[in-house]
Amino acid sequence: MKLKIAIISSFFALSASAQTYWQQEANYKMVIDMDADKHQFTGEQEIEYTNHSPDTLNKVFYHLYFNAFQPGSMMDVRSRSIKDPDRRVTDRIFYLKDDEIGYHKVKKLKQDGKKLNFHVEGTIVEVELKKPLLPGETTVLSMDFESQVPLQIRRSGRDNKEGIEFSMTQWYPKLAEYDQEGWHAHPYIGREFHGIWGDYDVTIKMDKKYMIGATGVLQNPNEIGHDYLGHEVDTDEPSGDKYIWIFKAENVIDFAWAADPDYVHEVVETKDGLKLHFYYQNDTSIVDNWKELIPRTVDMFEFMNENFGQYPYPQYSVIQGGDGGMEYPMLTLITGERSLGSLTGVTLHEMIHSWYQAVLATNEAKYAWMDEGFNTYVGNIAWKALFGDNSDFIHSGAYRGYFALLNNGNYEPMTTHSDHYGTNQAYGVGSYSMGAVYLSMLEYVIGEDQVRKGMKRYYNTWKFKHPEPRDFKRVMEKVSGLELDWYHEYLVEQMHPIDYGIKSVLPSEKGTQILLERVERFPMPIDLKVEFTNGDVVWYNIPLSIMRGEKPAEGENWNVLSDWPWTHPQYEFQIDRPVNEIKSIEIDPSQRMADWNRDNNTFPFSDELRMRGE
Ligand SMILES: [Zn+2]
Repeated sequence: MKLKIAIISSFFALSASAQTYWQQEANYKMVIDMDADKHQFTGEQEIEYTNHSPDTLNKVFYHLYFNAFQPGSMMDVRSRSIKDPDRRVTDRIFYLKDDEIGYHKVKKLKQDGKKLNFHVEGTIVEVELKKPLLPGETTVLSMDFESQVPLQIRRSGRDNKEGIEFSMTQWYPKLAEYDQEGWHAHPYIGREFHGIWGDYDVTIKMDKKYMIGATGVLQNPNEIGHDYLGHEVDTDEPSGDKYIWIFKAENVIDFAWAADPDYVHEVVETKDGLKLHFYYQNDTSIVDNWKELIPRTVDMFEFMNENFGQYPYPQYSVIQGGDGGMEYPMLTLITGERSLGSLTGVTLHEMIHSWYQAVLATNEAKYAWMDEGFNTYVGNIAWKALFGDNSDFIHSGAYRGYFALLNNGNYEPMTTHSDHYGTNQAYGVGSYSMGAVYLSMLEYVIGEDQVRKGMKRYYNTWKFKHPEPRDFKRVMEKVSGLELDWYHEYLVEQMHPIDYGIKSVLPSEKGTQILLERVERFPMPIDLKVEFTNGDVVWYNIPLSIMRGEKPAEGENWNVLSDWPWTHPQYEFQIDRPVNEIKSIEIDPSQRMADWNRDNNTFPFSDELRMRGE
């Protein structure tokens, strides 16, 4: 008997520990010496890497992102062979000259002072450890490297079209992440990222004419002669022709920076003490817009803090650089020659990534919809609240993208790794649109208030971690008290569209009998609005039995009917008023359900309307 109990309890202990969350830790120290004229730098890097996983690691991988900017690289071939090329890239990598390509050359690599064997394969370094890294152990990996900054093609690079000299993103040898799903040493082809949590201590030696904006907080403003409130300070100026900039960032997944001799640097403080930095070129055509952007960015942070969780870092920088806009911890690089609306929109999108990427660090390569798409959803809400939006359905653009792909046959499941979508269009919709559709449809299923409550709880539960789709689903289940497995299976893991219709509306003994039908496989609960000729409006909500409950009432005259079992193609119910008192019936007037064929959603049926000459 005793033995049996022991076996059972150790079984439970085992399964409990298999559930325990863990994540790796990599603390970086880097010293970078820039040769700005040659667009090259040397780097010394020391990573204190702790294996918090339950596994023994025999190897590690690094990303060498700059190697993507070489003719014949995977990114180059992919960019030239994909059906719908990104216009920013097309064949530009193929035509880079020797002094325009990017590279990282690993000169020396050691583990705890002992030389390591490694093999470079495009943008990935495969490294065999000298000493296996046991669970719970820490090792120091040190690397000397030489790099060339590529001509700006995508995100990082030098001399972009707006004249920014250095956009330094994905710019250093970076350890690949090992998480509960194993190694993620994916070659860089220009899409999404995944990083290890850790602290960064980065020293940059660079010609004195440059102004630098970076992730982290500047540690030695007195040596630079420029404090981080933007005013000049007494200098402790080092001799020589370079300044030594020292930045420290705590608990981040990446480090980025930018440098230009012509940056204007402005700083404002929000009411809770967050310092917002702006770096832009002193160009008369853009200065007014950037000045206007500053108070708007303050409003954006205050809105996000209040509604989606508190931004945790001491500062954030909006920096002109790169192409388009791209998010990094504590900063964004965006192109600056934009209308005020566009500048505001891009800044809003990128700063929201401080929540959905920089703090809730999902593996964006695998789950871009939780990063880009949640951002789209929150961005639509924030834009409406801050700058107004008179469309009746703020997420309609996301749904349009989804329906367009369902119709043209290019739709791919949301589980697709972002690098592997067959077209840029499918990647765009699968990430930017589908995360918004996911949350907006979830509002329809569990209620808008529940989703908003869930977003805050998700932030507080999963900040500074790597949440996965099931983690988000669990938070939403706990908040709503409903079961959502089916929702995930049909929306995220498969690609069935949704179509419900009104089959018939007939007189009956009780009044009117309404017959509904599920045309496609994807089951959903139904919101049905009935308007009567005397102006009365009555709502009917039909939950799915597999939800094990229903959302709270979403309006007046809200009636919850009996469950619709997902196996049943049809559902019939009665209302106690005659057909001739019914003005109209509509399935999902909110349009959140993502019904791709709304022609059958309304009564009177369209042919009846035609007969009546309406
Ligand atoms: Zn984004």
